[in-house]
Amino acid sequence: MNLTDLVRYWGKTRPAQQAIVFGNTSQTWSEVDAVTDALARGLAARGVRKGDRVGVMMLNRPELAHVILATLKLGAISVPLNFRLLGKELAPMLVDSAPRVVIVENELAPLLEEAAAETEFEIFAIGGSDHRAYETLLDPGNVPDVHIEASDPAFICYTSGTTGIQKGALVTHRSALAPGIAQVLSHGISRRDRVMCSAPLVYTGSVLSIFMQLVVLPGSTMVLLREFDPAIALDTFEREQVTATTTVPVIWERMAQLPDFGTRKLAKFTFAGAGGAPVSLDLLDFYNSRGVPLTQAYGLTEASGMVSTLYYEDARTRPGFAGLALAGTQVRIGSIAGGFAAPNEVGEILVRGEHVMREYWNKPEATADTLVDGWLRTGDLGLQDEGGFLKVVDRRKDMLISGGLNVYPAEIEKALHGIDGLVDLAVIGVKDDRWGEVPMVVFHSQRPADDIVTDIACVASGNLARFKRPAVALALDEPLPRTFSGKLAKAVLRERFQTPPA
Ligand code: AMP
Ligand code: MG
Repeated sequence: MNLTDLVRYWGKTRPAQQAIVFGNTSQTWSEVDAVTDALARGLAARGVRKGDRVGVMMLNRPELAHVILATLKLGAISVPLNFRLLGKELAPMLVDSAPRVVIVENELAPLLEEAAAETEFEIFAIGGSDHRAYETLLDPGNVPDVHIEASDPAFICYTSGTTGIQKGALVTHRSALAPGIAQVLSHGISRRDRVMCSAPLVYTGSVLSIFMQLVVLPGSTMVLLREFDPAIALDTFEREQVTATTTVPVIWERMAQLPDFGTRKLAKFTFAGAGGAPVSLDLLDFYNSRGVPLTQAYGLTEASGMVSTLYYEDARTRPGFAGLALAGTQVRIGSIAGGFAAPNEVGEILVRGEHVMREYWNKPEATADTLVDGWLRTGDLGLQDEGGFLKVVDRRKDMLISGGLNVYPAEIEKALHGIDGLVDLAVIGVKDDRWGEVPMVVFHSQRPADDIVTDIACVASGNLARFKRPAVALALDEPLPRTFSGKLAKAVLRERFQTPPA
């Protein structure tokens, strides 16, 4: 089975069912099948062949979904591009993936200029007249008969790059589908579900974890939002009777804070996922007590977005854990000393299964470092308890060594999170003459900085071993820098504060 078989199958067997709902418009599966055929013909007429890359950069809109599916129908590789990046950040991705065609919204086309000087591709744009019109790609004629294997590449997904260098994970049809099969089986997701996508569809967490795995696979309906806004998302939950979605914890938090949450008549949810970062037990309690079965997920781009899930029942006894491996997935911990770790020993999280990427595109050394003996080295630190439950302790890169002892910033951040008025904080390692590195906390708060600093010292001395206690606490006037996916941009902070301010 491949992704395009499914699009054709739902087009034939459920022609009248809604496939995509966007604002007041909607399209059925047969319409989506037909329009993606027309687009595939148009792309083929522009020379796109099996294995070629097709870039796409748009805010959420149905055409974005169409371009992705049409690309797949040709056996070509879809390269979703993040419009929040700067032109100079996008250029290396375009040079690396060397697409034949890039399809954009006209307003985003200037972002391609820098890359266009370095590599050749044809641009098609929606709206405006600076480039060939997207509409000219809708071509009548015969769909090329392309044979696609499950092992053929489907996507190059550039990882969010908290570590700096953008690497393109090559995801096959099989690897894109694998976590979806596991989730459809364990949560009972079906064609009856209405699945909301509120984050940009060009992000891995949306294009794979929602569109491919929760929509294309079970033939459900995708309710697509142009942009995320907590109030619009909650309105959409109610109006569209959404029954499934997955997104980052901060979005669930912002929706929970809306004053009228309790008055909304929500549909019974089949699946509600929060992944990308740890979710608090409070937030899990909030949603689960209101009938939304929020579950914590752990995943990464290199594993097609999903690795493990923590069911609510288990969250109560194992707060802070990321749960059990998906069906068909194996998780082990690689001991820092070599071999596999013992239960509860912290090491690198290793993942094996059909969902693991084939390689980093054009990066054989990085691939060899990352795929070792059949295991994906995630770069995350974690442990597994006796029951096999996974806990993510921190990113491997996000560790500091103080006086020879490993210090995990996430652990310190978690300890400090309970302080009143302190939600925007980060712990990084800074150079120290005596210990090599020491933890420093950087924060932004409305409360007086001196009071916060006092509270930090008090909480740290009560909860953390001496070597983990922040040696420096620094208040910023502005919110902390974050990556486009909402994660703390620690690389930026580290660069700024390599040595602690005097
Ligand atoms: P990305 O590289 O953008 O695919 O992001 C994946 C990374 O997000 C993982 O490697 C983890 O570092 C982090 N992450 C994802 N889910 C969780 C989670 N449940 N808890 C902690 N960190 C997570
Ligand atoms: Mg990553």
